[in-house]
Amino acid sequence: MTTTVRVPAKINVSLAVGPLGEDGFHSLATVYQAVSLYDEVTARPSDDAELHVQVHFEGLEREGSVPLDGDNLAVRAARLLREETGVDEGVVLAIRKAIPVAGGMAGGSADAAGALVACNDLWGTGLTRPELVELAAALGSDVPFSLTGGIAMGSGHGEVVSPVLASGTYHWVFAISDEGLSTPTVYAELDRLRHDDDVATPEVPSSILTALRAGDPEALGASLSNDLERAAFSLRPGLRETLRAGRSAGALGAMVSGSGPTVMFLAADEAHAADLAAFLEGSDAVTEVVQAYGPVPGARIV
Ligand code: ATP
Repeated sequence: MTTTVRVPAKINVSLAVGPLGEDGFHSLATVYQAVSLYDEVTARPSDDAELHVQVHFEGLEREGSVPLDGDNLAVRAARLLREETGVDEGVVLAIRKAIPVAGGMAGGSADAAGALVACNDLWGTGLTRPELVELAAALGSDVPFSLTGGIAMGSGHGEVVSPVLASGTYHWVFAISDEGLSTPTVYAELDRLRHDDDVATPEVPSSILTALRAGDPEALGASLSNDLERAAFSLRPGLRETLRAGRSAGALGAMVSGSGPTVMFLAADEAHAADLAAFLEGSDAVTEVVQAYGPVPGARIV
């Protein structure tokens, strides 16, 4: 018996970063959208009681970028599920990776969410979705959203997910860099740039919620916002050129995705996204281009 789970990448259409807390985390107010770029996690029984992981890369080769031991987020998820339920079985987790590694699209979190759902099925541990969401929050800020998907607000450190009223489908083009950016490094750069500025309590701008409720891509494109963008630009000045390229080709909005270095462009519809993608593929500023749409559901058994 094997179980395969498909899990989407996430983007943040709005990401407000508050001050650094005493717990070492920043408070966030974000709006997530799950998009149709998926990792797949397959769980099958192991001959021993160990937790094994294999990674197969789709698209950009990133050999060596993902740990193949107990540090892998999928393995950590399986270990946590075992601890919580008292199961002593092993598992072989095979990950097909299409989400760029260290690309600001929560690929590692997707694999953790996928492993929770796949192992819960394989081992027959029967945890409910709310119970899985609780374990997900212990694994990482983006893991609960990888389970739920759709469009949602994230507060706390991003792990407290609540529904957002939204309509329509949004067509995106992603410019993926061949070298990732580490999320902690990007937050540290933001802190450095902010010095001891007074940082306000993070809030989601009402213009984002209005645009999503109306299903209006033009309004959404005009209100995209990401406090981490300046830190990503500071570490990768070349990203500004990528943004300019997409804007000049008529993107409704252009912004760094999460901690970067992926840059996301919003198109008016699918045909416009194809045109934008073709233009960016021909641009010197970009390595790999991917088209996707959102919202899509979170981790699901296929
Ligand atoms: P986020 O958007 O959530 O901040 P990210 O998408 O920028 O994260 P990830 O791809 O999730 O970054 O991974 C960041 C790091 O986590 C990688 O550089 C890698 O060393 C480690 N890692 C551990 N397990 C995994 C996994 N299954 N897939 C990808 N990276 C993993």
